[in-house]
Amino acid sequence: MTVLDKLTSEEAIALENNYGAHNYHPLPVVLSRGEGVYVWDAEGKKYYDFLSAYSAVNQGHCHPKIIDAMVQQAKTLTLTSRAFYNDMLGKYEKFATQLFGFDKLLPMNTGAEAVETALKLARKWAYEVKGIDENNAEIIVCENNFHGRTTTIISFSNDPVARKNFGPYTKGFIKIEYDNLQSLQEALESNQNIAAFLVEPIQGEAGVYVPSEGYLAAAKKMCAAHNVLFIADEVQTGIARTGRLLATCGNCSCEEKNCSGTPEVKADILILGKALSGGAYPVSAVLANNHIMDVIQPGNHGSTFGGNPIAAAVAMAALEVVADEKLAINADALGIIFREELAAFANENDLVKSVRGKGLLNAVLINDTEESSTAWDICMKLKDNGLLAKPTHGNIIRFAPPLVMNKEQLMDCISIIKKTITEFK
Ligand code: PLP
Repeated sequence: MTVLDKLTSEEAIALENNYGAHNYHPLPVVLSRGEGVYVWDAEGKKYYDFLSAYSAVNQGHCHPKIIDAMVQQAKTLTLTSRAFYNDMLGKYEKFATQLFGFDKLLPMNTGAEAVETALKLARKWAYEVKGIDENNAEIIVCENNFHGRTTTIISFSNDPVARKNFGPYTKGFIKIEYDNLQSLQEALESNQNIAAFLVEPIQGEAGVYVPSEGYLAAAKKMCAAHNVLFIADEVQTGIARTGRLLATCGNCSCEEKNCSGTPEVKADILILGKALSGGAYPVSAVLANNHIMDVIQPGNHGSTFGGNPIAAAVAMAALEVVADEKLAINADALGIIFREELAAFANENDLVKSVRGKGLLNAVLINDTEESSTAWDICMKLKDNGLLAKPTHGNIIRFAPPLVMNKEQLMDCISIIKKTITEFK
């Protein structure tokens, strides 16, 4: 078997099952090609992608501008490590810091690495700038969070499947209820050693929980009053997914430009990943101003691949596509239609309880228990009908298509979803 041999879906699944660790439970569909909002399986069947690789493919599959940038750079220079300078990283750092309104960027590869980086940065800042005694810093996190899979990150997860038998866990985290300002206030007041508050602007993996209006802004204000850093994990919500360049932009309406304008909430530390590369390459980043980022000095932190020239070229192209194609505006408009249509459908169909979300990050709640397999079974039927989505729980389906979708395609998808659920037994 060579790398160019074509496999049937059955063969591909058998190979993964036999030779790959079983750390995922994929829907049984084998994808072999993608373009824009569409993917094709090994037998050539076409589907709408309504997951976008967990919001990494916001710019659509194989966006020509992003792929061109990647191929061009791959033919020129791929990796130098940070032992030397390369002529792409600085350009990208200037571009991204200006776009998001921060002094500096620290480049990493995956979302979890960027979260780890932000946690290390916050702790170091707490000891060296805030003056907390060494090893006493605490970071406030939220219940039902999802920030990745490293040992430290799962230490403050409350998902038993993600945690069990991976201990001993990293200390130094205080968990509070999401969307509860009172809990945050109490946590901030009860402890002098708080370095930071780490929060997802919308809890994606938990089932697309959108916090109350004004929660993030009020939380940021409380943190500022206690000299505590506000860390926004926008790995999933960022890069136009929620109808704004960042979910923390709130209701600021950058009508024409792809800019963070005057965001509702300006994080002290911003974490980006996933769609920062349009799904073409693992690229993540941590952004902060100098008074925070400057605590990191040579030797304190790094990654062989972080900031490599391909990543820099791809990220710049991916961010340009978001601006050129006004993807935030499109996500905002299509998201409104999606929720209106599904909310009306929920009124007439007993299986659908409600729909919630922002922009094109939405979840449909199914009228069954969290332990049921109904959401999975519906996703299997959606697959048969040409649309790929994935449950986040037994009774929640996340719907997050590429943001390059047009209205006609969205309406087609809505009718597939309605038809599938109507016929579901
Ligand atoms: N943070 C958030 C909010 C996420 O949703 C995810 C992934 O889903 C991560 C971090 C981890 O990103 P990665 O899977 O690239 O490590």
